Amino acid sequence: MKYVSSRNSKLQESPSMALIKGLADDGGLYTPLLNQRKLDLNELKDLTFQELSSKIVSFFIDDLTKEEIEECVSKAYDDKFDTKQITPLRDASDYHILELWHGPTSAFKDVALTLLPHLLSAAYRKNDYDKTLSILTATSGDTGKAALASFADVKNTAITVFYPEIGVSDIQKLQMATSKGNNVTVMAVKGNFDDCQRMVKEAYSNEKLLEGLDHVCLSSANSINIGRLVPQTVYYYYAYFELIRNNEINMNDQINFCVPTGNFGDILAGYLAKESGLPIKKLICASNRNNILSDFINTGRYDLDRNFYPTMSPSMDILISSNLERLLFLLSEDASYVSSLMKKLQEDRFYEVDETMVNKLQDSFNAYWTSEEECKETIRKVFEEKKILIDPHTAVAVSAYEKYRKKSEDDTKAVVLSTASPYKFASDVLNSLGYEEKEPFEAMKKLNSISGLSIPKNLAELKEMPIRFDSSIAIEEGMDYIAKRLKEINDAEY
Ligand SMILES: *Cc1c(COP(=O)(O)O)cnc(C)c1O
Repeated sequence: MKYVSSRNSKLQESPSMALIKGLADDGGLYTPLLNQRKLDLNELKDLTFQELSSKIVSFFIDDLTKEEIEECVSKAYDDKFDTKQITPLRDASDYHILELWHGPTSAFKDVALTLLPHLLSAAYRKNDYDKTLSILTATSGDTGKAALASFADVKNTAITVFYPEIGVSDIQKLQMATSKGNNVTVMAVKGNFDDCQRMVKEAYSNEKLLEGLDHVCLSSANSINIGRLVPQTVYYYYAYFELIRNNEINMNDQINFCVPTGNFGDILAGYLAKESGLPIKKLICASNRNNILSDFINTGRYDLDRNFYPTMSPSMDILISSNLERLLFLLSEDASYVSSLMKKLQEDRFYEVDETMVNKLQDSFNAYWTSEEECKETIRKVFEEKKILIDPHTAVAVSAYEKYRKKSEDDTKAVVLSTASPYKFASDVLNSLGYEEKEPFEAMKKLNSISGLSIPKNLAELKEMPIRFDSSIAIEEGMDYIAKRLKEINDAEY
């Protein structure tokens, strides 16, 4: 498999080098060229989550051996997850809920991030690297903690996480501030997620940053790294085969997925699943009030000229959605076209795609958005009617799915992706159920007594853990700070 830059198809890398580099030298995103290659559903249908993972990851990262990948998978998907199924599928009668939050930090990012350090280590050995991989990560809340937990004290790596000072939930902040590991650092930024992401991307394209530093290179744990996307394709397949095992569908029947979307990574993994042979009819893109993506899918115009709203689903509070670039490349198969759109976005703050592209887009995707009121109402309704407690991100998706179903009258079996434990957003979930409690640990207790759902250990423990990181910087200080940090990593032995 070749990975090419979405902005220049001459820039190609092997899978393992694409993993190490994260972002292509021209700022484009490495995208796999499938060339019509497909996975064989019959070979996959009876596999456990781990076996399925090994097969699918090997398909996309075919320059690591089967044994190497199996070893990575067995290190990632073990009792760090609180269920053997890893991503259990739950019947909610009108749809199914795929619970992706049973990992060590209670968010779906764990599925990819528990595997990523092991994949990077294997890629590192294969390519005879002798530098410290410095991971710079911008987070809207959940990636940060999941990456900090998975890279803590992993040899040859160091991780630095930037999060927006205002926007992440109290629990998310606490999760990051209490991170363990000698090779980890956390920094709050006086800005929003897009500012953090821009800062990190700028660092990647700033060659001067690494001048004179011989022992360090940059890599990424954000979903701009294909090592994030590939493991996420697995649970789309897993959900499909669970539906077969439960006699809900027959082999080769099509199904729909509804995905709460921010940086377009999770849903793009769904598109890669579709392209690699999974019978998906529609991927329904669910946005919160920051509905730039659903506007784009409905109109073909991506327009940054709009307000930014902090919402109850902060991990989706994003205006610059990186992975959309990969989709534009996959649909157009034209890197120079994508490059011109990205340039236009930077210069004019918007771009528009032509009708052919809009049609292609709408062949695979539908999109709806959910207001804050609808989000709360959905949390309440799903709990009252189905006795299932969902977090605000999942509620955004459930509400979008209901709109899709009503509008399209499409009763194809559907899976809604549930991306975080409700306990990560305990106060807001509790508030949606009609109670008031701002203190997050009290809110967790109260939610537990109402719902009976147990509080994940990693969240309950937070209350007693010492704060290690509490500094913040202004956006303008970002590059100087990164330069200093890289020098420190260069001089240290991680
Ligand atoms: C990251 C995140 C999302 C959005 O995922 P993308 O891959 O950025 O689209 C949705 N929900 C939760 C809880 C998340 O942490």
